[in-house]
Formats: sequence, C-alpha cells, structure tokens
Amino acid sequence: MPGDARTEPASVRILLTTGEGVRIEWKDGHSSRYTFPFLREHCPCATCRDRRAHGLSVTGEKIRTPLPVYTEPVRAQAAEPVGHYAVRFTFSDAHATGIYSFEYLREICPCEKCQPARKGETP
Ligand SMILES: [Zn+2]
Ligand SMILES: [Zn+2]
Repeated sequence: MPGDARTEPASVRILLTTGEGVRIEWKDGHSSRYTFPFLREHCPCATCRDRRAHGLSVTGEKIRTPLPVYTEPVRAQAAEPVGHYAVRFTFSDAHATGIYSFEYLREICPCEKCQPARKGETP
C-alpha cells in the first residue's frame, strides 16, 4: 500500500556475500532482520504456500519437529528488485519463484514485537 510507513522500507540491505540475510529499516523506524533459511521457509510462491498448507518441509518431507532440519542451510545466490514493492531471491536450492513484497516481509518480521508468540523460543 503506497504511503504506508509500516510497509515502506527506508533502507534494504541484502547481505549475499556473508550469507547473513536481509536487513530492512522501515520508514516507521522499525527494523527487521531475516535469515535466508527463514525467507526460504516463508517463500510466498504458490508451490510453497501449498507445501506449507500440507505441513511439508522444503524438501517435501512431513514436518515432525517444529523446526525443519536442513542438510545444509539455504543461502540466497542472487536478489533482484521487482518494481519498487518487492524483492525476488534465487536460493541455493535453485528455487526462485517467490516474490517477497515489502508488505509480506513486514508481516513475517521475526522480531519479538511482531511475533509475540515466538517469545518462548531460544534465540
Ligand atoms: Zn516457493
Ligand atoms: Zn518486527
């Protein structure tokens, strides 16, 4: 939604070389940090939404533990802007169909303020 400070980034840093993840400072002063495995797990494409709806992990296995176990942490190999409203990542598992709008990214912000339900988890 244009003009909404909550979903408009003031700065976006995609730390591809270090594999650290993505940092976004929002216009309302909030800042978000995402790791690449987190972003991969929250991929908004139709295939992944469907996969999550069926409780399957990225590899297509049934999730038995709350945290999916990867043989190797997924990294982003490339990132490209989609217009002014979204970012598209190419992940190390060759998945690149997810378009992450800033509105969606703000929605999935993993910080304590945005996801109070996660508070009990160890950092
Ligand atoms: Zn996907
Ligand atoms: Zn947050």
